[in-house]
Parts: sequence; C-alpha cells; structure tokens
Amino acid sequence: MPGPFRLVEGGALGKLRRGYHCADCDEPHGEMFHLSSWAPDPWTGPEQYEPNHALRLEGDFLSEDFCVLGGQYFFVRCVLPIPVHGMDEEFGFGCWGTLKRENFEIYVDHFDTGRVPPQAPFFSWLCNSLKPFDLREPLACTMQPRAERQRPHLHVTAPEHPLAAAQRDGISPEEVLRYYTVHGHRPA
Ligand SMILES: [Zn+2]
Repeated sequence: MPGPFRLVEGGALGKLRRGYHCADCDEPHGEMFHLSSWAPDPWTGPEQYEPNHALRLEGDFLSEDFCVLGGQYFFVRCVLPIPVHGMDEEFGFGCWGTLKRENFEIYVDHFDTGRVPPQAPFFSWLCNSLKPFDLREPLACTMQPRAERQRPHLHVTAPEHPLAAAQRDGISPEEVLRYYTVHGHRPA
C-alpha cells in the first residue's frame, strides 16, 4: 500500500517535479518554472529589448535586465523566490524592482564583474502587480544582488503581507499550480 507521500507524488507535486501538459498552450511544460514579467508595469514603451550594453540613464530604456523611465526611475530585473513544500528548488516570480539612481549605478558597475556590491542589500519597490496577488501599488522590498550575474532576489519587507508570508512559510504545490492557472498555464 503506498504511503501518503506516494499519493501526493502523483498529484500537484508530481506535476511540478515531472512537468505537465498545459491545457492553455496545448503543449508539455517542463519541471517547475518561473512566471516572469517582461517589463515593470509602468513601462509603456516598445515591447522590445535593447541590449544591456546600450544602457542609457537618460530618457527611456529597456533591456532584459535594466529599465529606465524618463531618466528618473531605475529598475532591475529580479526574482522573488518562494519555497515550495516538498521541492528542493524555489518557485520564482520574475519581476522588476526599483533602485535609486546612486544604487542603480553601483549595481550596473558590478553587473559585468559578476561580483556582489559591498553596499548591498538595497531598498527597492516591487513594480509588478503579480497575479494572483494583484498588488495595486509598489511594494517595499529588500533587493539582494547575487554573484555571477544571477538575478537579484527580492524579499517583501512587511511581515504581514501575503507575499511575505509565502516567502517565509512556503506554499503548497497546489498553490503553484494555481499561479500557473491564473497566468494562462492551466494543467490539463
Ligand atoms: Zn502553458
């Protein structure tokens, strides 16, 4: 008789570990994947990335790692990690956090060297609404850059916020599948 773990393994946890067939895309998705926002929500420019090396601090700019709005607001592509019960890997929301100009310049200077800036961590506002959390305004976070150009981690500051609770306590595999469903990747 299979133990409870094996019963769970065939359910949501198994879908995360082995991948699943997506009813929306009608194709297989691999093991647990991140859900990513391609730009900060305030970005209204072209849906096309410039190369990182073309970065300008004036006007508007968007690459896969950096964004500048009106030469005034500076954003970095981050990951907001959430532990998942039963999984070794964390689930992640790919999302964008602000840095004040001074810290943005420090971050960019260290980006190419792959080193973590000694001034980190930085204060940051998370600037994506992140379904199903549907944030209505920017959320205060701590941004921790990581070595070797891995995307920085964002951690929600306010301990009572549902996203902070998810980061602290972890979420169930079923909850990850719910995130996938509301983002248009419903398990078949
Ligand atoms: Zn899909």
